[in-house]
Amino acid sequence: MKNIIFIAPPAAGKGTISERLKENLGYVHISTGDMLREAIKNKTSLGLIVESIMAKGEYVSDDIVISLIKDKLNSLDGKPFILDGFPRTINQALELDKNILNLNYQVIYLEISKEEALKRALGRITCSCGKTYNLNVTNLKPKVSGICDACGQALRQRDDDNEEAFIIRYNNYMEKTKPIMDYYIEKNLLVMLDATKDMEKLYNDIIEVIK
Ligand code: AMP
Repeated sequence: MKNIIFIAPPAAGKGTISERLKENLGYVHISTGDMLREAIKNKTSLGLIVESIMAKGEYVSDDIVISLIKDKLNSLDGKPFILDGFPRTINQALELDKNILNLNYQVIYLEISKEEALKRALGRITCSCGKTYNLNVTNLKPKVSGICDACGQALRQRDDDNEEAFIIRYNNYMEKTKPIMDYYIEKNLLVMLDATKDMEKLYNDIIEVIK
């Protein structure tokens, strides 16, 4: 089973599919966005630095996320991992390569149009237990409106899942993250999959490429 790096526009569904791979196959799901949101929730010094940057939809600095990722990779003990939301800049990709040089990994690019990604961002609601739902995606709605199926807590929208922040996130993605694709294409490590496919089919396509 290969390690996985997901690259995709905001709200393409990286987090949701990563959680499924984690539950079914025992991957460690490493989401820099989740790590940063946790820091904000716990009001750590890191959280205070990144809170307003993230709410606006801007990227946090390479130094911050690279340091988070290095610590995480060092604690894995050889377990297979999914990188969700890292690397997002060419600097991050280069730094990552220094740390996982000898590991077997697959980069998966999840394709989605800007319109569909915006629709998903506006419909996304999350629970503090980590579950994510989407009012605009079939089969991802909670059973009871506004309540988490798994733990019963109230669901809420992320601070950056509004149209204004989405546009900034999407533009940052096009300018800084999309160029990473060429880097991985040259290394022959990238496959492209359709993120708007039925979740079951997308999951099966991923299983095929990580064998
Ligand atoms: P995500 O949960 O992946 O949508 O990330 C949410 C936000 O966290 C992004 O819009 C950025 O502000 C920040 N973030 C997460 N990962 C990175 C990264 N690798 N580089 C820069 N900023 C990041």
